[in-house]
Amino acid sequence: MQYRELANVYERIEATTKRLEMRSILVDLLRPLRGRELASALYLSQGSLRPEYEGVELGVAESLARKAVAEATHQTVESVARRSRASGDLGTTAGELLGDVRRVENDGPLELLEVYEGLTEIARAAGAGSQETKVKILVDLLRRATPLEGKYLVRFVMGTLRVGVREMTILDALATAFASEGKEARERIEIAFNLTSDLGMIAERLAAGGLAGLDSIRLEVGRPIRPMLAERAKSLEELLQRMGGRAALEYKYDGLRVQAHIAKDGSVRLFSRRLEEIGPQFPDLVRALPSAVHPHPAILEGECVPFDLGTGAIRPFQEVAKRRGRKHDLEQALEEVPVALFAFDVLLAGDELVYERDFPERRAVLEKLVRPSERIRIAEERTVTNVEEANEYFEEVVGAGAEGVMAKSLAEGSRYRPGARGFWWIKYKRDYVTHLADSIDGVIVGAFHGRGRRAGTYGALLLAVYRPDRDRFETFCKVGSGFDDAALAELPKRLEPFRVDRAPPEVDTGLTPDQWFRPSLVLEVKGAELTVSPIHRAGIGVLRPDAGLALRFPRFTGRYRTDKSATEATTSGELVEMYRMQDRGGTRSATGERPVRHKA
Ligand code: AMP
Repeated sequence: MQYRELANVYERIEATTKRLEMRSILVDLLRPLRGRELASALYLSQGSLRPEYEGVELGVAESLARKAVAEATHQTVESVARRSRASGDLGTTAGELLGDVRRVENDGPLELLEVYEGLTEIARAAGAGSQETKVKILVDLLRRATPLEGKYLVRFVMGTLRVGVREMTILDALATAFASEGKEARERIEIAFNLTSDLGMIAERLAAGGLAGLDSIRLEVGRPIRPMLAERAKSLEELLQRMGGRAALEYKYDGLRVQAHIAKDGSVRLFSRRLEEIGPQFPDLVRALPSAVHPHPAILEGECVPFDLGTGAIRPFQEVAKRRGRKHDLEQALEEVPVALFAFDVLLAGDELVYERDFPERRAVLEKLVRPSERIRIAEERTVTNVEEANEYFEEVVGAGAEGVMAKSLAEGSRYRPGARGFWWIKYKRDYVTHLADSIDGVIVGAFHGRGRRAGTYGALLLAVYRPDRDRFETFCKVGSGFDDAALAELPKRLEPFRVDRAPPEVDTGLTPDQWFRPSLVLEVKGAELTVSPIHRAGIGVLRPDAGLALRFPRFTGRYRTDKSATEATTSGELVEMYRMQDRGGTRSATGERPVRHKA
């Protein structure tokens, strides 16, 4: 396949807002492809060269890309810089400039795999002279590129390729292209994806062997699994009822979810909830794990929590955040902010695929697998069989400083479900009972210019929740409270990488902000209550055909959820559920602190 065809597909997808149309464009693209071509087309469309968890980066700074564009189009770097400032996108500028120069045609049109190989070489180039190598490869590709190809090539290397298709739409397209449109096929494909987090690999196997091609997929050490997720309950009664009258209540630690992969040789890789490799930030855990866990290989999950080694007390979550992103003075951070891992699940133990077993068996394996040490511990747990016992344990847990409990079903069928949210796990905090104190993780999709003290930065952000069945981001509030001066000042810079010049097709809202953003950055807000709104679209069609849910008096808690990707934000379904709970609770607007009325 020629790269040109892929560029054409990007162009067509960018022009549509309809998910069904996107899917059919994708189906047409994918159906004739096989093997490496198929996998490469998928990775490239996701803006990467390999599955996201491998963290392969091109290492091309804007200045380098500018230099390559200048060289390929016989311009000066200054003139390219000027033009891209005006267009706001170096890709667009590259496309325009390529329209004015003669293309090198001796080697024929660019093949998709040639482009993929070239980009892979760019990513591999390291050490002395690597900058020149990167520029040279890019120039060679650009000289052969059509204007459209050039635009997307440059966007790719800059990390700004914004084709609005996410994983769920790609999975739909894969089912239609290589299996069938039925629900069953789609589910099997999603299960395989949740287990491997590798779209390219799944697609290759599907194309080669249909659904049966997925049968041999197993979980593997070193390849992260999409984490299992929890539902909520409004009371301990409801929680127990949902779990059939019996449940294991565990501490709900407030930290960072970690998936630890310990290979046979004792080497350790840690993945975040977003499947990013975070081992380098936690060398203390990496060192402690091999001796605390037997046998190897093993995959376990736990919460990483700042921890006072002297007193054994859990410290506030914010302290872990201090470690993230610190590379140079990491050793100092290790001493300042010691952490412990509270293991709560096990997926692989030796050669046994434990994740397929029900929770009580997994817990038994976990207790044998982990030899608790100072830094590696097992999540506290108690089995309860009635509300009194549940209440008693809950009080104990909250008294000890945890934010609530995580209930685990002990019933038949309580196996680990990668990537799935369900009532097999239920999180419960006291706040749910009386008012809407649970926070919402919203995705920033737009911003409004500030006035007065906020002139020069943004005054309010437009937030959305994710709607998986439609693969869209539906807005639920405009938040301006809760930002201190420092947080405000840094907003434009923090949001810069996500700016787009028109409404992203995947965003659904009745508002028009001054600036749109590609849905990426997630932040935590709290509010007074959820109400039905004609201008917001969260859960539209669920409660009312033409109205969504809005959060009243939203306030930023100060916490960016960089551990969550946009599609891991709160979902529209969760918001609807919170709305229903709040209604049943009968205390619609009661919050501990009375909301201060302010202009929206
Ligand atoms: P939330 O992020 O509010 O949806 O809560 C779910 C998160 O709680 C999980 O992703 C874990 O990071 C965390 N957590 C803390 N303690 C536990 C536990 N004992 N079992 C499972 N998850 C836990």
